[in-house]
Amino acid sequence: MNLRTYPDPVLRHKTGRVETVGPEERAILDKMAETMYLTQGVGLAATQVGLDRQFAVVNVGDGLIKMINPIITKQEGKETQEEGCLSSPGVTVKVTRARRITVQFLNENGEVCELKADGLLARAIQHELDHLAGVNIIDYLHPLKRALATRRLKAARSRQAKKTSRRKKT
Ligand code: ZN
Repeated sequence: MNLRTYPDPVLRHKTGRVETVGPEERAILDKMAETMYLTQGVGLAATQVGLDRQFAVVNVGDGLIKMINPIITKQEGKETQEEGCLSSPGVTVKVTRARRITVQFLNENGEVCELKADGLLARAIQHELDHLAGVNIIDYLHPLKRALATRRLKAARSRQAKKTSRRKKT
């Protein structure tokens, strides 16, 4: 799977719900987990690999969680911390999020699961759910800083595109 970087339009898509869970959906989750490990991320949402369905994977070091149609049902407390994103390379943003959350989702067998999370796991899940709603970390920046970061990301993305097209020719 190819990692998409901002401002790739797919990163602004509001994803649709996954209607059935079968072998195809399990394969998508497996490929997403593989992509997350290859890029050394702690989480990955479907839009980051160009899909606009509600899939996300997270692993902050204590096990892989595969989520389909996740929703946050409860949140408590507030915490501000710096975050990075695989899709916004080189950008870090201070983001205020809930300290503790309860999230509901379908697992890869289509079973309803409920998970209580805090700390980094809670933050990673909230970050991935943002992606599924078309929200990116740069949206938390002051408008002036956001414009600068967008310009930098655009330039990096077009350099990357040129490199890729050159590679294809040879
Ligand atoms: Zn991200």
